[in-house]
Amino acid sequence: MNDLLIRRARLMDEPGTVDVAIKDGRIVAAGGGVAGSARQMVDAAGRLLVPAFIDAHTHLDKALTAPAEGVSSLEEAIEDFQRRSRRMEKNDFIDRGRRVLKMALRHGTTTMRTHITVSEGVGLKGVEAALALKEEFAGRVDLQVIVMASGLEPEPAPPVTDLLEEGLRLGAAGLGGAPHLADRMEAWVDFIFALAARYSVPVDLHVDETDEPSVASLEYLAAKTIQTGYQGRVVAGHCCGLAAVDEKTAARAIAAVKEAGISVITLPSCNLYLMGRRDKGLVRRGVTRVQELQAAGVNVAYASDNIRDAFRPFGNANMLEEALITAQVLQMGTPLELKNILHMGTSNAAAAIGMEDYGIKSGGRADLVLLDALTPADAIIGQAEKVCVIKGGRVAARNDKKSDLIL
Ligand SMILES: [Zn+2]
Repeated sequence: MNDLLIRRARLMDEPGTVDVAIKDGRIVAAGGGVAGSARQMVDAAGRLLVPAFIDAHTHLDKALTAPAEGVSSLEEAIEDFQRRSRRMEKNDFIDRGRRVLKMALRHGTTTMRTHITVSEGVGLKGVEAALALKEEFAGRVDLQVIVMASGLEPEPAPPVTDLLEEGLRLGAAGLGGAPHLADRMEAWVDFIFALAARYSVPVDLHVDETDEPSVASLEYLAAKTIQTGYQGRVVAGHCCGLAAVDEKTAARAIAAVKEAGISVITLPSCNLYLMGRRDKGLVRRGVTRVQELQAAGVNVAYASDNIRDAFRPFGNANMLEEALITAQVLQMGTPLELKNILHMGTSNAAAAIGMEDYGIKSGGRADLVLLDALTPADAIIGQAEKVCVIKGGRVAARNDKKSDLIL
């Protein structure tokens, strides 16, 4: 007997409706008229069933710390967190992270990658807290912890380099950082790659998060990825500088990113709020060249980045809300473009963070969200309710208590 049978579900890329049968956390059949009984039934009644959202770039350690007085730049936001995080206890990190993870699950995110900062001031408290939350939320939200330097260190040197390594020993899944902020960008990238290779973990960097027209970090990252054979294991977040360079430079950098097999994650909601703060008149938006990257065949995802902190005081850990912001700022509004956006928050994000067996297919992991919508465009424009969130084949959240959908 199956554990769960979802009847009459509409999928993103197929006409008509299908039934989806789930057993032991996996999809065992997805198609028309799937037979067999199940312990639990969900009647989707023609609604849209999508693979659960993946928020591939967040900062749980910073979330829910927005200062009332605000900040005026990225550097100020980093310093604000540096200053305040010294006084934070591990339990404070855990409490705030727990609140965000509950919000995320309620909104259909069942996998999250969080960057956690280590520094002389905060030490490993944020990492330890995130790893505790990873255990606490096992079976509801899969948490990938990326340990990162704050970005303000001028060069790779102890004690921060030691803290990064200790973070990996404790169980972090990968290495991050923001080398473009350092005096010696190339030395930081070299250090990160050497350490990543030693522990065989992926690399996920904040890249050219600047208003300046610059692809220096992006191009160096691409070259380093190829040189070290790290293709497919590297993510470049932000890439704001790519938006500001001339067309020829952009084309050259994009070709390098494609050749290096780097995934790009755009963080429009945070960059829109934080970048271009000193511009008068036309304010730069800091959002990277998503359409051009996609046209070149680069895998691009979107994610939330910051949730109610100094970097961005907004956010609800809601990937459908981020989808609407992404669609609006990227001027992607046709039904086909909105479907593309939904893929960017699901299957593209899965590819970026190396998830296997993802998607609604036989053998796929049963992480699913039933949306109260018929199409991706409906779901994004109407900010559809997530009627039912399924994690590992079990109903992990319901948001429609009055509904008789779940039998
Ligand atoms: Zn970030």
